[in-house]
Amino acid sequence: MTLKFNPALAGISPYRPGKPVSELTRELGITDVVKLASNENPRGPGPAVRAAIVDACGDLSRYPDGNGFALKSALAERLGVDIACLTLGNGSNDVLDLMARVALTPGASAVISAHAFIVYKLAVTLAGGTLITVPARDYGADLDGMLAAIRPDTAIVFLANPNNPTGTWTDESSLTRFLDAVPKHVWVVLDEAYFEYVDLPGYPDGIRLLSRYPNLVVTRTFSKIHGLAALRVGYAVSSPEAADLLGRVRQPFNVNSLGLAAATAALADEGFVNESRRLNREGLAELTSGLTRLGLAVIPSAGNFVAFEPGRDPGSVYNALLREGVIVRPVGEYGLDRHLRVTVGLPEETARFLRAIERVLG
Ligand code: PMP
Repeated sequence: MTLKFNPALAGISPYRPGKPVSELTRELGITDVVKLASNENPRGPGPAVRAAIVDACGDLSRYPDGNGFALKSALAERLGVDIACLTLGNGSNDVLDLMARVALTPGASAVISAHAFIVYKLAVTLAGGTLITVPARDYGADLDGMLAAIRPDTAIVFLANPNNPTGTWTDESSLTRFLDAVPKHVWVVLDEAYFEYVDLPGYPDGIRLLSRYPNLVVTRTFSKIHGLAALRVGYAVSSPEAADLLGRVRQPFNVNSLGLAAATAALADEGFVNESRRLNREGLAELTSGLTRLGLAVIPSAGNFVAFEPGRDPGSVYNALLREGVIVRPVGEYGLDRHLRVTVGLPEETARFLRAIERVLG
């Protein structure tokens, strides 16, 4: 007898993370490994944040503050929003998933772009929604196409700015034109996981747009520039009404106390963020020009990673790089069959990747 299960599960597979260093060591016995596979900050968190984590270890037998008051207060002040507009999550993945469950009932649809961050598909499918995937334009979101794809049953649109794995981004005038045209009853989730890395003219700050668009929900994370991917802290900024709905779906204690303490300290360390942004700008330029010098096509990226075409079967290049001790990310499941994605590392890591790929490609 077959056990019954949710038939929506037939349409998805488990999220496949970048290969952990320990796994490569286990499989190939390589100990000197550079992981450039998951768009993490290669610097790790700064010293003040490490100290805050150690400090928070004194209280591990207690449940965390389920309302995350200290972190939310710090965020409210930094972002210039009311505390009632904030929802914390176990990573921003959590808030993306919460939004899908807030918005979707079985039979409702969600609009995304081709090559969009894969968690949208997982969240929509699990919430019983129907996914409408709009073909990309130059690998980026085709906002006119996404508008045209909105149906009477559409409840939510997900848009990453910049998007992972393409690094493509949407400028402020295109975004506001889009938001003006989206029906007011349709949620727009603007995923700004890489917001702090972007320093391009015309790049919009979604939080500044919230007062004009009550259907807008902006998500951000401490996993990327703040260097806290392991502790899983993300958040949504929205209208208080949306935050109230998210709060009904959220699990109690969805953010752990080490994460809360670390994120609060990370927010205070502006110097660390600014230095990380500067190093990323240099590393991204290095990576892009190094790949271009090898004759490889690169998708121009606004994030801390680039997708590029190795010119041969990406699976074999990925495996050959593993044997060189360099972990990058295959992106076939994102509909990018010819590409690999590589994260900006520390200068010596980026240089090692470029030497490795040059050797691998002969
Ligand atoms: N959005 C985008 C576009 C991402 O690339 C990621 C991380 N891969 C996330 C959200 C989620 O990150 P986290 O759950 O660590 O905040």
